[in-house]
Amino acid sequence: MDFNRKFEELYSNQNLRKAIINATDRAVKKREETIRRIPDFEELREKASLIKEYSVNNLPDLLEKFKENASKNGFIIHTAKDAEEAREIVNSILQRRKVKTVVKGKSMTSEEIGLTSFLHEQGYDVYETDLGEFIIQLAGEPPSHLTGPAIHKNRFEIARLLHQKLKIPLTTDPEKLTQEVRKYLRRKFFSAEAGITGANFLISDTGGIVLVENEGNIRLTTTLPPLHIAVAGVEKVIPSIKDLSVFLKVLAPSSTGQRQTGYVSYIGKSGEKERHIILLDNKRWKMWNDPVMKQALKCIRCGACANVCPVFQIAGGHLYGGAYTGPIGIIWNHFIYGEKVREIPYLSTLCGACEEVCPVKIPIPSLILELRKRNYRESLNFQEKLLIKGWRILHTDRLAGKIANMAFEAGKKIAGRKEVIKNLPFIMKRWTEKRDIYLK
Ligand code: SF4
Repeated sequence: MDFNRKFEELYSNQNLRKAIINATDRAVKKREETIRRIPDFEELREKASLIKEYSVNNLPDLLEKFKENASKNGFIIHTAKDAEEAREIVNSILQRRKVKTVVKGKSMTSEEIGLTSFLHEQGYDVYETDLGEFIIQLAGEPPSHLTGPAIHKNRFEIARLLHQKLKIPLTTDPEKLTQEVRKYLRRKFFSAEAGITGANFLISDTGGIVLVENEGNIRLTTTLPPLHIAVAGVEKVIPSIKDLSVFLKVLAPSSTGQRQTGYVSYIGKSGEKERHIILLDNKRWKMWNDPVMKQALKCIRCGACANVCPVFQIAGGHLYGGAYTGPIGIIWNHFIYGEKVREIPYLSTLCGACEEVCPVKIPIPSLILELRKRNYRESLNFQEKLLIKGWRILHTDRLAGKIANMAFEAGKKIAGRKEVIKNLPFIMKRWTEKRDIYLK
């Protein structure tokens, strides 16, 4: 991906820039106002961080316990090692049940595995039911923010799009547009044979799943169709139902600046319905095995770090080359998409604003810095690595320092009166091909 060109393209789009600046400004102000009214917010943040740290550190055990309890509750559990396997599991379930129409609740995990476009290619009718996701589905664009997928579009663009695609009367009144889209989607909910969602939390001690939202579309997706499939990353597991309230108290204020979201759905048993949970790896275990980057698994996808990020504010989320956007997207996309997004660690000023707002206290700037270091190390050739190693030894080993001094004195003699060496033999030859060595 040519990041410079992409940046130019996004930066020069005035509508996009204005829409993103307006949306992030609003979100930052709302967050600050709400948090001011929660006196123990810092305490809650600390608790949320500690619970997530414990969850990540004990992930294998908590996940096993979750699987066991969820199976007892009637959920059918699957594990997928990568995006392709997860898509195939979904496809085989839908085929077996002869599904034609699918409704989807907003899910970043499903964006990560490219589920909607895959299902379209397989011939299913798939409808995103979150308003923002529905808008970008109609526009054929990827989401630009973890919680506000269409924040890069202004209301005029949205009105025109809905008018063109759904013949909705042209209006920029958000209330009217929402009502029209709801009417359209309501029919889809009743005709769909399957509902697909993600999950915000997997509760280890009860084997239930929790979904958090504002529009009620996820609740309909999980209750109206006879079949429900939840695709969730393995890192979503938390130890106990008792921990949930802490996350609910920090998630909404950080994300949308609300005290609470409109809907919190807890699905504890499969009941009459066939319910599947697909637990996705897709490089999460690789992240887990990395002692530094493991901390990124604490993310609860609130999007607060993107709202305060100066780079995100001027170019938006399409710059990050994958499903995840904003500062935390740098780390997640780096792991998931690898070489394709090698340059994303440089999409940060390292100002630290993201770490200050993160409800689970992920040290995002130091993780980004670590990725840059790794990128740099990987870019070095053999001679450069050797040179750096030598340089380190020179500065840490007394004997090596003495030898270097002697070499310096000898070098001075070789350099002569001009105090410059223009040609060196053997391994150092390439060095002096491009530069001279001054010994002044
Ligand atoms: S890193 Fe923190 S602030 Fe960013 S989305 Fe995740 S939880 Fe929210």
